[in-house]
Amino acid sequence: MTVDDFAARHIGPDADSERQMLDTVGYSSIDELMDAAIPEVIRWHGTLDLPPAASEEETIRELRALAARNTVAVSMIGLGYHGTHTPAVIRRNVLENPAWYTAYTPYQPEISQGRLEALLNFQTMVTDLTGLATANASMLDEGTAAAEAMTLARRASKTKSPVYVVDADTLPQTIAVLTGRAEPLGIEVRVVDLDREALPGEFFGLHVQYPGASGAVRDHGALVDAAHAAGALVTVAADLLALTLLRPPGEIGADIAAGTTQRFGVPMGFGGPHAGYLAVRSGLERMLPGRLVGVSRDVDGNPAYRLALQTREQHIRRERATSNICTAQVLLAVMASMYAVYHGPDGLRAIARRTHTMAARLAAGLRAGGVRVADVPFFDTVTATVPGRAVEVVAAAEQRGVNLRLVDADRVGVSCDETTTAGHLTAVWAAFGVPEFTGAVDPALPADLARSGDFLTHPVFRSHHSETSMLRYLRRLSDADYALDRGMIPLGSCTMKLNATTEMEPVSWPEFAHIHPLAPDGQTAGYRELIASLERWLAEVTGYDAVSVQPNAGSQGELAGLLAIRAYHRSRGEAHRDVCLIPSSAHGTNAASAVMAGMRVVVVGCDADGNVDLVDLDAKIEKHRDALAAIMVTYPSTHGVYETGIASLCAKVHDAGGQVYVDGANLNALVGFAKPGRFGADVSHLNLHKTFCIPHGGGGPGVGPVAVRAHLAPFLPGDPLAASGDRPAISAARYGSAGILPIPWAYLRMMGAEGLTRATGVAVLAANYVAARLRGHYPVLYAGNKGLVAHECILDLRPLTKATGVSVDDVAKRLIDYGFHAPTMSFPVAGTLMVEPTESEDLAELDRFCEAMIAIRGEIDRVGSGEWPAGDNPLSNAPHTAAMVSADSWSHPYPRSVAAYPPGVAPAGKYWAPVRRVDGAYGDRNLVCSCPSPEAFED
Ligand SMILES: *Cc1c(COP(=O)(O)O)cnc(C)c1O
Repeated sequence: MTVDDFAARHIGPDADSERQMLDTVGYSSIDELMDAAIPEVIRWHGTLDLPPAASEEETIRELRALAARNTVAVSMIGLGYHGTHTPAVIRRNVLENPAWYTAYTPYQPEISQGRLEALLNFQTMVTDLTGLATANASMLDEGTAAAEAMTLARRASKTKSPVYVVDADTLPQTIAVLTGRAEPLGIEVRVVDLDREALPGEFFGLHVQYPGASGAVRDHGALVDAAHAAGALVTVAADLLALTLLRPPGEIGADIAAGTTQRFGVPMGFGGPHAGYLAVRSGLERMLPGRLVGVSRDVDGNPAYRLALQTREQHIRRERATSNICTAQVLLAVMASMYAVYHGPDGLRAIARRTHTMAARLAAGLRAGGVRVADVPFFDTVTATVPGRAVEVVAAAEQRGVNLRLVDADRVGVSCDETTTAGHLTAVWAAFGVPEFTGAVDPALPADLARSGDFLTHPVFRSHHSETSMLRYLRRLSDADYALDRGMIPLGSCTMKLNATTEMEPVSWPEFAHIHPLAPDGQTAGYRELIASLERWLAEVTGYDAVSVQPNAGSQGELAGLLAIRAYHRSRGEAHRDVCLIPSSAHGTNAASAVMAGMRVVVVGCDADGNVDLVDLDAKIEKHRDALAAIMVTYPSTHGVYETGIASLCAKVHDAGGQVYVDGANLNALVGFAKPGRFGADVSHLNLHKTFCIPHGGGGPGVGPVAVRAHLAPFLPGDPLAASGDRPAISAARYGSAGILPIPWAYLRMMGAEGLTRATGVAVLAANYVAARLRGHYPVLYAGNKGLVAHECILDLRPLTKATGVSVDDVAKRLIDYGFHAPTMSFPVAGTLMVEPTESEDLAELDRFCEAMIAIRGEIDRVGSGEWPAGDNPLSNAPHTAAMVSADSWSHPYPRSVAAYPPGVAPAGKYWAPVRRVDGAYGDRNLVCSCPSPEAFED
């Protein structure tokens, strides 16, 4: 290794370790191992055509050069994206802190109390500000949140009408996303100018924007009543900052509120990532899509947070799921919630008033200068009419470093935010050709729409207003959690690999962070070149012809890919093809996405080896031949096996006129060795937050690009402001979560063809090493060629559970005592653990994990032999907290030292779970989804 070889930093095992691991697995080289593991029919023998690997320093230099080609202008475009000051204490200690950004989705609540508390703060913030009963823990963006609201309204409404009414003063990108989602579901989106036109006779839902895209603040009370009288539900897409001053949606009778929390301290990032939100009135909470944090208790009766109502999620409900959303926007939700914690209600109100005063002054100045400004109440946005001069005014502002919104040839929109200064107003007035205005200004918010009553009354929003207190609060929460900065997170299917610091650094540079998604092209040349090269490199890696980075999670990539298949069939006069074959082992998002794409799901069985059952496949193809639209398979399979039947599977489906969708979540087992676009697939999504190093952020952000062969390229996601039937918008922003694309860009740039290929080899070696070391202690469930697994392996606990009563849950929780995050539990097979070590863990950590698993096997045997009772042993009582083992009394049949410091755990480095095992069922029966009072935490 040379000192500037990034691949050797990214890949954990060094050459000596590699040899040792190969010895254990029984191969002489990685090439020999990969030749044996990967079926020749899919093997690709070339060298990836990527630029030669650059060092970390060179990569930063190149990214600086790209960043320099973006121009950070003052953004007054608005349209759902606003300038905001990220408090530095939050930027450095959340966004730039691996304790937050490398965490996984909090499915293991005992090691996730910190981020669960932060998300509960987020939910409380949203429910308080919207005046509704329950909010979830984030959505992907405002457009998709609005689309989820639409389908929720349809499920909840008793009317049979397919019509969803959308007010014309809604953000245009939201209308585009709604329209794209509606069509395959048979929903008819009807855009109506509700200032002028009446509501139709029958409709199941109504969507209004509050304040409107034009800036106008309307009293929607009468509309809400009319919609309810028609049996429809009402969604209010509301700006949370405006809601600190305005009557909240809940008070005017809205059923649902949706929107974004971007302006709560989250940079615009050229469109994302930001946390969308979704809140519902009481009675609808069990229909809410996405993740919901709730309060429950641990076995000692202490309050503990965990994800509530998990049975609604796609893993369980599959094609009957409410939504396909899986990865959401946790890191950004944490930032937004901390912005509210830091500023508190008074601070937020002050920011809102200041923003409003700027807008009011702006309007007064324009009017004084003779410019017509719409005579309506507004919060932060004014629409000015300058007949025939709009282009000229916008250009004049750009010359002064300010971006305005070109509404049409006659109208210009100007939005203020917390970053707006007097100097910015001067520039805008000058662009309009009106003099500086210094007169008095009246507020433009109507008194009858003013918010009354307090909000954010919980002490957490009133306690951390000094930086010292905020810093310590963030530290306290992150200390409660287990993330990659503590140790290995061997989650199968999730690829928890290194998120290198060099990859992360550019994300907070202003030239990437502070760009509005609708900034003029001249200001975004660097971004667009970065995206174009990333798309090109991803096409090379996957063997596809075209890539779109717009989908902002894997689930969204799935929907985009299936919609491309659907549009393709339609373009050939085969609109009747609507059956999507999905193996029983598939990830739950697959089935949920197929339903959202208007397809019928037909399940194909798996054989005893965990492979797609080709006999059943033949039967299902025969039965649905004329209606066959697609098959959706994961490769390597969700069982972590390179199935040899993949090529014939592709051929069979193609012969029947169907398309092949390969779920690319497991691409970490293929890069450099096989290309889905070459072995028979037509389309895939990738998970850049798995294979390409975007951190999981505790449950998002992610990026789920969709990659297609040439015949599907005309049907890739469209620009939300120019979308069409063939190319619907999948996300609100044209490039989705563009702000985090420097991460995969840097990863690819620093690894190069050789590094990427080696990473795949080491990932497969590491999985086979773990399988080889643990096989004698736990059955390894599935294997392919020569008994080898791909990049992950499934440990079968079921025989042990049957013999001893020790469950997969017990093992997962006992791993916490040993200082590990559990592997993936009960997916894809109930009662098993799926281990994916990735290439980034070094041999010492792999061995530490194997030894912990072997020691746990020894503990299981002591339960099995009757030495420890089934209901009182280190496994059933795990995790053990510091409070438990230091209590004055101890009545368990094993010593405290076994509880707290099992083999390999040094007291000095011990990670303590803050709560004991959490009772999920109790929390679901007693649903509490906002901050509990502090008294709940008293002994
Ligand atoms: C992670 C995953 C998905 C979903 O991706 P998200 O980004 O969480 O939406 C789909 N399929 C498989 C096999 C996965 O592992």
